[in-house]
Amino acid sequence: MSLAPSSTVVLDHRFARELPEMAIPWQGEAAPDPRLLVLDERLAVELGLDPDWLRSPDGLGLLLGTEVPDGAEPVAQAYAGHQFGGFSPRLGDGRALLLGELLDPGGRLHDLHLKGSGRTPFARGGDGLAAVGPMLREYVVSRGVHALGIPTTRALAVVATGREVLRDTVLPGAVLARVAASHLRVGSFQYARASGDLDLLRRLADHAITRHHPAAATAANPYLALFEAVVAAQASLVARWMLVGFVHGVLNTDNTTISGETIDYGPCAFLDAFDPATVYSSIDHGGRYAYGNQPAVVQWNLARLAEALLPLLDQDQERAVALAQQALETFRTRYAAVHADGMRAKLGLAHRSPDPDPDPDPDGTDLGPLVGDLLELLTRAHPDHTSFFRALATAARGDRAPVRALVPDPALDGWLERWLALGPDAAAMDGVNPVYIPRNHLVEEALTAATGGDLGPVERLLEAVDAPYDERPGLERYAAPAPGDFGPYQTFCGT
Ligand code: AMP
Ligand code: MG
Repeated sequence: MSLAPSSTVVLDHRFARELPEMAIPWQGEAAPDPRLLVLDERLAVELGLDPDWLRSPDGLGLLLGTEVPDGAEPVAQAYAGHQFGGFSPRLGDGRALLLGELLDPGGRLHDLHLKGSGRTPFARGGDGLAAVGPMLREYVVSRGVHALGIPTTRALAVVATGREVLRDTVLPGAVLARVAASHLRVGSFQYARASGDLDLLRRLADHAITRHHPAAATAANPYLALFEAVVAAQASLVARWMLVGFVHGVLNTDNTTISGETIDYGPCAFLDAFDPATVYSSIDHGGRYAYGNQPAVVQWNLARLAEALLPLLDQDQERAVALAQQALETFRTRYAAVHADGMRAKLGLAHRSPDPDPDPDPDGTDLGPLVGDLLELLTRAHPDHTSFFRALATAARGDRAPVRALVPDPALDGWLERWLALGPDAAAMDGVNPVYIPRNHLVEEALTAATGGDLGPVERLLEAVDAPYDERPGLERYAAPAPGDFGPYQTFCGT
């Protein structure tokens, strides 16, 4: 495959062209002493970009948004959003830029976007900057989420700027370059709706259909079909987070995508101990975005999307509400179906044909009670979530000691008997239950080292999480739960 050298990087500006009311032309702030910290070379090649060129001074200019190719029109995007339930009609990219859209050699379009590139007209009181630690957190955790096969924005690079960023202490600054199917959010639709400009709302919906859900264009009611497609994509996404124990941490409507990709890795974390009430974010006092609340909160966010779309769904607003309600109600069953399939695979029972009807059924193919009882057991014993499913495969191979050590509950053996009677496939379990995830204590250790100038721990952690299912000698510490003296773990937003 031939890779684009500097002069031939082509960035379109479709968003800016089609939705100028939501795009403010802007550029990245110059960095005093740019230094590339990490570059995802595989991603660069997938995008048709030459990694060696990206490492050059011109390449760094692109990754900082200070030197963009001819024809590019970087913009700060406008959006609104419900943050912790309260509506802000104007949020937008306060410290971010959409550089433009990039066509990869396979013909797929991606947003190339920067975070930490300086103040924009949406910055409000913020400084427009980002620190090395949080940008590397997004780099590492999004890479782990991608390796798990979960839809996500991806981090291309983190460039240290040489600028100091003032938080609780003075920290080194950085810019993250990320790639996304798009940066359209529920909040983008809320912004268009709140503007009162119906033509803008319609253009935004058309733009979203073309980019993400093209089948909706030919449906009888394209905008209803768009909404249904977003409901399906988000129901599947949140189910997959639940299956791996991912806690997003700040599921505001501006952090809920139309594409169905995970976006904005702020106070996110993977579960250590299994507990639906788990909250890591230091600002989530009410537990609104707790692990177990995520499906309900995503559905709530989709209700806000429905409200924004109402004028497009039907001229008769009562009928529009009924249509939206009906579509929103499919969230539960869509979520349950993806979650049930995922649990069936995690339990090594994917070879058993799925239950064709949702009612409990007499031949025992309905795994609902088995899964429900397991989740109850886990909630009582709160074992390390990731270790538990690997230990369960060991039990399927005949050794129950590891799983008993994790769940010292007398009810475990009865559950194991029921499960083992179904003939779980241990090898298949190891192909879907990760052994390496970006564990909180490892992420913290790596970010602390990187902030002090040592990128070694970040690189070793990336090596482990890049192949999450493939247990390798020498990586034992990357598979082990957090040490007893780690925690309670808190993550911080907006840094
Ligand atoms: P986030 O928490 O990254 O989803 O951001 C929420 C909102 O706050 C967005 O409008 C961001 O652009 C804005 N924001 C967060 N941090 C900063 C900052 N340091 N400077 C300016 N705007 C910011
Ligand atoms: Mg955000």
